[in-house]
Amino acid sequence: MDYQLTEEQQMLVDMVRRFVRTEICPLEDNLDPDAGEIDPEDSERLKEMTKKMGLYGLGIPPEFGGPDVDVTTQTLLSFEMAQHRAGLYNPCYNVFGGAGLAQLYEATDMQKEKYLYPVLRGEKTSFFGLTEPSGGSDPGRAIQTRGVQDGDDWILNGAKIFISGADHADFGILFARTSEDKTRNGVTCFLVDTDMPGFHVRRVVHTLRSTKYATEIQIENLRVPKENILGELNKGFAIANDRLSRYRIPYAAGCIGVAMKAQEMAIDYVKIRETFGGLLASRQAIQWMIVDNEIDIRTSRHVCLEAAGRADRGDDFRTEAAMAKLLGSEAGGRVVDRVMQIHGGYGMTKDLPLERWYREMRIRRIGEGPSEVQRLVMARNLIGGSFH
Ligand SMILES: Cc1cc2nc3c(=O)[nH]c(=O)nc-3n(C[C@H](O)[C@H](O)[C@H](O)COP(=O)(O)OP(=O)(O)OC[C@H]3O[C@@H](n4cnc5c(N)ncnc54)[C@H](O)[C@@H]3O)c2cc1C
Repeated sequence: MDYQLTEEQQMLVDMVRRFVRTEICPLEDNLDPDAGEIDPEDSERLKEMTKKMGLYGLGIPPEFGGPDVDVTTQTLLSFEMAQHRAGLYNPCYNVFGGAGLAQLYEATDMQKEKYLYPVLRGEKTSFFGLTEPSGGSDPGRAIQTRGVQDGDDWILNGAKIFISGADHADFGILFARTSEDKTRNGVTCFLVDTDMPGFHVRRVVHTLRSTKYATEIQIENLRVPKENILGELNKGFAIANDRLSRYRIPYAAGCIGVAMKAQEMAIDYVKIRETFGGLLASRQAIQWMIVDNEIDIRTSRHVCLEAAGRADRGDDFRTEAAMAKLLGSEAGGRVVDRVMQIHGGYGMTKDLPLERWYREMRIRRIGEGPSEVQRLVMARNLIGGSFH
């Protein structure tokens, strides 16, 4: 498969790379190493720049006002946008705009007015509430939050855990069991406002991530009108599936982008650092680490672009997206670890972005479906569903 970039793709990649290096990285020099936000004035200024670049709202389908950029090009740009200290969880501090919860593109007109469009305008923020204390790998079976019909409303009771950003969100998507069916066929997706009586963020859960805290949610007799059901009753999973696979591509691309930047740092460093009377670059143990990094980067990048290409062509890309997510997150972790080793003591400091990437990269093997679940998805697609 040939991944020669088109002239336009190369131009966009160069433009975003320049933007990250000249606009984002210098700001980080003056921020706390764990910062998750930039100054609002800088944010507005940079958003104007990304709008002028024609790239604001990347990921938003063109029919909803996003730029007409295919998944392959978006992936190439995601590699670039992650290449700074906060790049894994805050690529470019969101100055390219957020696509919001992809599931909302399937919403009714009324739901789009109330939830989707305000998100696209940057007026509202949301959360995605799937995982429960009973488990997240197999949420179809694990979900214990119950939805019971009461006239035109539904009454929800239960709990969610590890939900990112629910403490400052305006609304979210909440999955609840609405039938006796104990599989994913009995689950419905509800749009829930965080100021509805009965919605409580019980605690903020601190993880390896520097920002974007996860939360634990308690839902007590939360009354939701039936108009807030997203998609069809008991088919909450069906609407999410294709979009969930799609998320795995940019998720992998973020890991790969960080690995690319870490590798660049390593190559620069080994050419200037001397030990035992010679440069690190001359030591075979170091050379092999650089080579192993490159193998990790190129293989994961290749699969990630293959998944993106299949998505662009309308082909089934679930296996490739799962493989990209697994490879990107695992290879990214190995690369950052090796680059820390190459940097010695400096690799352990917060002066360099490596320690933040190291912590946050570890989450990537769990978030958006752990590596084991990605293997399960691939096995299901390769062997067939009846063995699972
Ligand atoms: C920082 C952070 C942010 C998160 N944000 C969100 C969010 O916004 N919304 C949301 O809904 N969730 C979120 N999650 C939850 C995340 O999606 C889950 O943690 C993940 O899906 C795994 O679920 P679990 O933690 O319950 O692990 P479990 O399901 O209990 O699994 C435990 C381990 O067993 C492995 N395992 C499971 N089944 C098998 C099997 N069949 N064979 C082999 N191994 C298996 C898993 O891979 C995992 O390693 C977040 C998690 C973190 C850490």
